[in-house]
Amino acid sequence: MSDNGKPKVAFFDFTCCEGCQLTVVDSLQTNLDLLNVIEIVQFREAMSEKGEDYQVAFIEGSCTRPADEARLKQIREQAAVVVALGTCAHLGGVNALKGLHPLDEVREYVYGDKAGWYDTYDARPIDAVIPVDFAIPGCPIDRDEFVACVKALLLGKKPPIPDYPVCVECKLRENVCLFTKGQVCLGPITRAGCKAICPTYGQSCEACRGYISNPNDTSMRELLAQHGLTPEDIMTRYTMFTAYQVRQKLQEQESK
Ligand code: SF4
Ligand code: SF4
Ligand code: SF4
Repeated sequence: MSDNGKPKVAFFDFTCCEGCQLTVVDSLQTNLDLLNVIEIVQFREAMSEKGEDYQVAFIEGSCTRPADEARLKQIREQAAVVVALGTCAHLGGVNALKGLHPLDEVREYVYGDKAGWYDTYDARPIDAVIPVDFAIPGCPIDRDEFVACVKALLLGKKPPIPDYPVCVECKLRENVCLFTKGQVCLGPITRAGCKAICPTYGQSCEACRGYISNPNDTSMRELLAQHGLTPEDIMTRYTMFTAYQVRQKLQEQESK
């Protein structure tokens, strides 16, 4: 806590596009009241100061190098509360797609004959390295949900992350279901909280927020198959943002 009684907050980034931090900056612009009740001591996207005394750490990005682990552990030691900010940090996100291919091939594809210069390993969510208290899902995060989560944390409450599917929000917006228009959509199994933004604008939900805790996976796969998707197509859709989790599950099944 700072001298003025405000909790000290720091933002950190690992492997990511920094779109979630940009969303934070965007949301703070229209929620200036939040800046009256917290003190941001480190936030590379928005300021040059680098305070190392903080109680709450928001971490964006996945862990993709052995060298990231020491930094993550240092943050965990300092922070009373660690929040994974966005899907890269929460689930591994698109970074984890590289784990579906042999690592050497991926490195060579990206870095060519300089592949050996880069220290990298399979991308993973930060909770694969350190304990995480809360996660704010989304690629990127939803600005309103971020503000609601910060307010909850300040009140000592659990951030209000829904555990029902995107279809609920989609129906509340009175959208015509994309399945009736010949498209496919992962809304039935995906965690809500984004206000069903993609189907509202005619785009399929690609599950960027990850899955609800009890998805009806069998029905979802049957529905996608009825709409012409092959098992390979379904796997491609399922793994866009959750390749790490799908791979972990497959490895668990193989080891039984
Ligand atoms: S979750 Fe998406 S928007 Fe956020 S940092 Fe990762 S890639 Fe960027
Ligand atoms: S468009 Fe997608 S999110 Fe909306 S109701 Fe249909 S399946 Fe659910
Ligand atoms: S509709 Fe699906 S893909 Fe789009 S933001 Fe929401 S969870 Fe992400």
